[in-house]
Formats: sequence, structure tokens, C-alpha cells
Amino acid sequence: MLTPCTHITSSVPDLIQATFNSYHGVSAAPFASLNGSFGVGDCADKVQANRNRMKQALGINRLISARQVHGDQIFRLGETPDSDQELDGIDALMTDRRGVGLMIQHADCQAILLHDPVQSAIAAVHCGWRGSVIRIIEKTVEMMNSCYQSRPEDIAASISPSLGPCCSEFINHRQELPTSFQAFQTRSNYFDFWQISRFQLMEVGLHPEKISVAGICTSCSPDFFSYRRAIRQGNGITGRNCTIISLTATHK
Ligand SMILES: [Zn+2]
Repeated sequence: MLTPCTHITSSVPDLIQATFNSYHGVSAAPFASLNGSFGVGDCADKVQANRNRMKQALGINRLISARQVHGDQIFRLGETPDSDQELDGIDALMTDRRGVGLMIQHADCQAILLHDPVQSAIAAVHCGWRGSVIRIIEKTVEMMNSCYQSRPEDIAASISPSLGPCCSEFINHRQELPTSFQAFQTRSNYFDFWQISRFQLMEVGLHPEKISVAGICTSCSPDFFSYRRAIRQGNGITGRNCTIISLTATHK
């Protein structure tokens, strides 16, 4: 049985974009059931089985992912590897290779997918509040420009299901967030990080009509893993949602 994706955002012929929900995997609680992360305490064979289901669902042979650290290191994939790879200390991935899936693992953080249809280049960015502060989105767009000559105005962006303004409470925001984020405070101590990402994408030159926001809050929706919900309900141990972008193997 193929794994359904709740959120396939691409209508472009040679592009695959998907965020998987937490259903139709093989992991047991508290990772039930489509946990994509090896780093949260789940059984490795179950995580691999889940990843295989995702690859099968999307028709992807190779998956590139990272042990993300809320930093701003960006990895450029040149040659397609012979096997799946998970890189250390990376929070954004980019390539112009076909048939390779770039995967972000997240539970409340945003996965931001970037596609330049002119240069046929893609990127996947992991962005939590720390990523917003260190501007990883803008750095990734700038690196697409330097590596692939991508013009920001050609790039389309999709922001995955992630923590919504309804649940983005930051009681230490005066220490953690720059004052420029105050404009995105929706009520006392609550911030709209979907709009912060949209603003940062526009700041680096993307057209507003090419930016889509899923608008689904992972902390509210039972369909997705959520770190904040896991904290509310107990010890914070939970799985990770997976968001994948890929240029299809055969150009149509
Ligand atoms: Zn919410």
C-alpha cells in the first residue's frame, strides 16, 4: 500500500513536493507511525521502513537528508550518490540533479521548499525560530543564485505544515528574537512565523504570488507530529514529519 501524502503542493510536471502526515507507517508509540527520524529514539529498522514507504510513494530512488542542528550550513549535492545519505550538521540541501529527494525532518519547525523552474534547481530548508533569526532562508536563496544562477524572481517557495501563529508562544522573545520580529507579534508573546518566512523570502527577491503557505498548524492538527503538543501531553518525545522535494528522473 502506498503512503498517502496529505500535502502535495506541486502542480509543476517535473517536480515532486510532499509533506507526509504521521499515518500509514510502521513505528509504535510515541513515534506512531510514519516517523522519518533516526535521531529521536525510534527503532532504526522501522525508520528505514518508513522512509522506504515515502520513497515508494513518490517514486524516488535516492534520499538525501541531514541531522539538522538549527544552524545555517547548506549542502550542495553535485553527483547523485549510490545510496541514501544523511549528512551531519546541515540545515539546508540543494541540487540540480534529477531523481534525488531532498528531505527535511520536522515537528513544528518549517520545511521550506524552493524550486527554480528556469535553471531546474531545488532546495529544502529546515527553519525553526533559530533559523529565522540567522536567516537561513535568505542564505539558501543566495546560494542558489551563486551556484545555479537562480534569479530570486523565478523561484517558487512552499512553506510546510508547521507551528502556526495560534501556538507560537515565545515567552522569552525579548532575549531570543530580534526586535524586527515585533511586527509579526499577533498578540502578547505570540508570533506569526509563517509571515516571518514569507517576509524573508520577499526580502531576498521572491514574488509574493510565488510563495505558498500550507497554513496547517502541526501543534493543533492531530495529523502531524508536534514537539509542542508532545510537551503539553508529556515528555516531548515524538516523531518527525517528513517534507520532500525532487526533480523527477525523466524531464517531461
Ligand atoms: Zn496551533
